[in-house]
Amino acid sequence: MSNNYQNMGKIHNFSAGPSILSKETILGCIDGIKDFAGTSLSVLEVSHRGKEFVAIVDESKKIIKELLNINDDYDIIFLGGGASLQFCMIPFNFLHTKAAYINTGTWSSNAIKEAKIFGEVLEIASSEDKNFNYIPKNISIPTDADYLHFTSNNTIFGTQFKEFPHTNLPLICDMSSDILSRKINVSDFDIIYAGAQKNMGPAGVTVVIIKKDYLVNAKTNIPTMMKYKIHVEKESMFNTPPVFPIFAMYQNLLWVQKLGGVDAMQKRAAIRADLLYQNIDNSNAFEGTVEKEDRSQMNACFKLLDNTLEENFLADCKSAGISGIKGHRSVGGFRASMYNALPIESVEALVNIMNKYK
Ligand code: PMP
Repeated sequence: MSNNYQNMGKIHNFSAGPSILSKETILGCIDGIKDFAGTSLSVLEVSHRGKEFVAIVDESKKIIKELLNINDDYDIIFLGGGASLQFCMIPFNFLHTKAAYINTGTWSSNAIKEAKIFGEVLEIASSEDKNFNYIPKNISIPTDADYLHFTSNNTIFGTQFKEFPHTNLPLICDMSSDILSRKINVSDFDIIYAGAQKNMGPAGVTVVIIKKDYLVNAKTNIPTMMKYKIHVEKESMFNTPPVFPIFAMYQNLLWVQKLGGVDAMQKRAAIRADLLYQNIDNSNAFEGTVEKEDRSQMNACFKLLDNTLEENFLADCKSAGISGIKGHRSVGGFRASMYNALPIESVEALVNIMNKYK
């Protein structure tokens, strides 16, 4: 078994998720696997109710609160089941008659599909007419729905809400692919949820930020595991939480904090995205696939004007140690996912290869 980590960080990892994590995060995980918090046990083999692990949960919540400036009106819980479980838990708890959804592609479509099981869904806006290459604007939002749900960043199509919908309805957002990369005002939301496997940590844990007052609206006659209220009351310990993903997320939160928090992440995201998009726009070989004003800072989707060169380009990327940029099958072309831990050098490496195609 190899004991050196010299090759770590040598690949430019543009994977859409699970995705790049900082070296510090991974080394912190390795330490915890070997000896967790001085217990002489691995974090893989300790009780979730032991004081050392409870401290990790508490500390992770505290750091998320600090990073996102969350006040005491909110609770934070860590659940299994991915963001996809939230697609069903939200309507299970809060869809009494009808709910409004904005459809910006695969993930919102999946959320809509689940919600329809529980009640009426008003799809109040959609960008499906142009294969989800833009964010709908000037949306007319009803006043009598149970809540409004939207996806802040569409990971697959590479679109991102720059301004969030204004509404008096309870606002619920899937922030799986841009949480912790931009400053947000949590007080505008009733629920924010995010699968951790992009900016927060590894796959296996989903972070749910929920307004305490909103919980009173939840249905009571639903299965216990589906109840946000129970998970909040039991402080994410109603059942065994995903212990190791939470521990790894904690390592990553420490790293985000050390680098300067969300402010620093937002600056890094802008520098990376500007470099790549400028290069796409100045190129006579590539073009972006998304309306410019709606371009995601996390997932840049682009294609070659001459698509017969696609295999060449992917091979050149591979030789330069660039991994994970093949576009999602529903869009084609390429997708460079540039999450928090991606260094600017990786984008420079990609741009160098792209310039060969000018
Ligand atoms: N929402 C968004 C925006 C996503 O990118 C994804 C995929 N990672 C999901 C939801 C589904 O997440 P999961 O695979 O954790 O269920």
